[in-house]
Amino acid sequence: MHCPFCRHPDSKVVDSRTTDDGAAIRRRRQCSACGRRFSTLETTSISVIKRSGVTEPFERSKIVAGVRKACQGRPVTEDDLAKLAQEVEESVRSAGIAEIEAHEVGLAILQPLRRLDVVAYLRFASVYQAFDDLDDFESAIEILRQEQDQTVGQQALVESESHAPRRSRRVSAKPQAKVQSRTQRKKRPTDTESSPEQERLL
Ligand SMILES: [Zn+2]
Repeated sequence: MHCPFCRHPDSKVVDSRTTDDGAAIRRRRQCSACGRRFSTLETTSISVIKRSGVTEPFERSKIVAGVRKACQGRPVTEDDLAKLAQEVEESVRSAGIAEIEAHEVGLAILQPLRRLDVVAYLRFASVYQAFDDLDDFESAIEILRQEQDQTVGQQALVESESHAPRRSRRVSAKPQAKVQSRTQRKKRPTDTESSPEQERLL
């Protein structure tokens, strides 16, 4: 690899470490001509298998291009799209596989897109999941409504838990563990917030 500063073709590795999630190796290199340092990132290349059987490399730009159409006229920025594509790549990579069906990439797009913009989500889902008629839209909207209600309900619950009759009852059996378990539990409602619904829609 060329030095990005002077184009010299040779450099030596001065440090090498695996990223936190174990999905990549970051190498710190030093150019042997100009002495400047730069980093390289080594990750597995993921192949996307299209319905025709043709494979092509996974690229964030393709995700962005696909979702951008669904976002036309919606308050969605290029940064939002880039973030969404990043999220999709992370979820695809977290599966730890070298090949993925195009269909599954589509599934991985639905969740983050729904969080970003429900209208764009419905557009994308209607094409991707081949909605046939109004009933398909209605049931998709119904699911969205139910989830919205649930989220509002959960938020109310979180707020009321700060005065916590439920929680203190739960920990009262072990008074000594009280302080610790309180702090541990604090994050749980948001952690679990979206997971059951996520599965339902997939
Ligand atoms: Zn150099």
